[in-house]
Amino acid sequence: MDYFSSDIGNLIGELAKLPGIGLKSAQRLAFYLVQQPQERALGLADALIKARQTARTCECCCTLTDQPLCPICASPARNHRVIMVVENTRDLAAYEKTGKYEGVYHVLQGIISPMLGIGPGDIKLKELVARVTDAVEEIIIALNTSAEGDATSVYISKLVKPLGVKVSRIASGIPVGGDLEYIDELTLHRALEGRMQM
Ligand code: ZN
Repeated sequence: MDYFSSDIGNLIGELAKLPGIGLKSAQRLAFYLVQQPQERALGLADALIKARQTARTCECCCTLTDQPLCPICASPARNHRVIMVVENTRDLAAYEKTGKYEGVYHVLQGIISPMLGIGPGDIKLKELVARVTDAVEEIIIALNTSAEGDATSVYISKLVKPLGVKVSRIASGIPVGGDLEYIDELTLHRALEGRMQM
């Protein structure tokens, strides 16, 4: 990789470690970045450093944010009696884009996967159970329809139902193995409307 310079080679190496970026894309991005005006490249580096330094999880819903409470949890306009459980902050963003959901979220930061050695203790389930008080009416499980999504949904249902809360799961309008992030807003909205009680 040292046909350019060790610095550019380094940059390519770092970029290639990012998810979904292969060596070719890493080279393309690195050459592009080093040919940008200094301020632009430094602006990107600066944004990365700042975002990394301030990134934290919301004390309530565990989504990625830079404040103790994320804007959704802090908002009095949201319905805090309905909690939608999602796998990650990207899925939360997909539901927010529909503009139709008024409740709040709980972000698991993962999904139970025996294959990958991820157990119930490795995702934010304890934090979810702690949120289920008398004030909560419904837990909507919005996990992908994969084997892991199904298993995690059943696990959550068994965990929170005894606490006296209604538990539902979004309708199976989502293709098997379909990634929530890539499903259009109308489909997501329909899946939410057609949720079934567990
Ligand atoms: Zn939050």
